[in-house]
Amino acid sequence: MNTDATALLSDLVSIPSVNPRGGAEPAETPVARRIADWCAEQGITAELDQVVDGRCNVVAIVPGRDPRAAVLFESHLDTVEVEHMNTPPFTPTVRDGRLYGRGACDAKGPLAAFLIALRDIARAPEPPAQTVIVAGVADEEHEYKGVLRLLENLAGEATRTVTGAVVGEPTDLRVVVAHKGVMRCRIVVAGPGGHSSRPWGLENPIETIARVVTFLAEEVTPSLTAAAHPLVGPASLVPSLISGGTGPNTVPNECAVSLDRRTLPGEDPEQVWRELRDRITGRFGPSVTVEPPFLTDLALDNDPADPFVAGVRDVLGRAGRDSSAIGTGWGSDASKIAAAGIPSVVLGPGSIGDAHTPNESIDLAELAEAVEIARALMRLPAPAGLS
Ligand SMILES: [Zn+2]
Repeated sequence: MNTDATALLSDLVSIPSVNPRGGAEPAETPVARRIADWCAEQGITAELDQVVDGRCNVVAIVPGRDPRAAVLFESHLDTVEVEHMNTPPFTPTVRDGRLYGRGACDAKGPLAAFLIALRDIARAPEPPAQTVIVAGVADEEHEYKGVLRLLENLAGEATRTVTGAVVGEPTDLRVVVAHKGVMRCRIVVAGPGGHSSRPWGLENPIETIARVVTFLAEEVTPSLTAAAHPLVGPASLVPSLISGGTGPNTVPNECAVSLDRRTLPGEDPEQVWRELRDRITGRFGPSVTVEPPFLTDLALDNDPADPFVAGVRDVLGRAGRDSSAIGTGWGSDASKIAAAGIPSVVLGPGSIGDAHTPNESIDLAELAEAVEIARALMRLPAPAGLS
């Protein structure tokens, strides 16, 4: 057990940072401020950066020998909601070698491991080859505003290149090099509405949406499941939310269904939407409206031969861990960082099976191991040929 990592994680879990899902609350800022203060106590430069509505990222930096190269360790400050938890969400408790509380593994555990490793790197007599940036960002669980703000700032730095990024999420310390993206949209059908005793000649939007959902299940979904990506498996399409009607004795004048379409590496979510819209309107005509996506997220797809990915896998192998590259169905900030041209992997202590659950927790031995691995990753050499 790494008592420093456990103590810091306890501290971070005890500061609530539930994502306000668009509400104007400072949400992540108290925990961002605590991290900045902790960094100052360790002699590390750290700054808050406002993302939106008083919600902040925190960015800590330890300079390396090569001022042109930096490696980024990013994890998120926000958590999901705490209703229906079986353990006190903000009073961390340690039982049988595990720490329980909201954010324990998703993603304050990975972030605490990065911060303790950064402190160790800062204390070491020899500076790291590359500058090390540890960023705790806001809003990963909702609209990714924190990572987008971070990328905006990094793109503005003319003299320093970020050569690779490790995104902290609970991956059981496996290297995730690919994950799915998502496209969510609504399909809406409107009708004239009327008295339910006189339904003749009235289009009933509930019936139309039922036909649309059947069409998707029978004719669209099977073609998706036929082709699987080697690391993340097949794409999926799920009708996830349905609403319609105003009362039990009225022909409804509207019905809508939300779709959740998980995309594969290489798929463009906007193109996925256009194709879906064309198939649905081609079949049902213009009375069925396929609204533009209300949420899209990119898939993550690294070149397996990328030297940064190879460097990360090598560190894991030397630590005696499984260093094979894997893919996941869930998404992360890594896809946005990779889309900005920075090779990005997802890696952290804890299990995704414990994230977002009523008993969220993390294995403290794995947390300690994550500190060792992060420290080795922070010492990766700058890539050759950097100009
Ligand atoms: Zn997460």
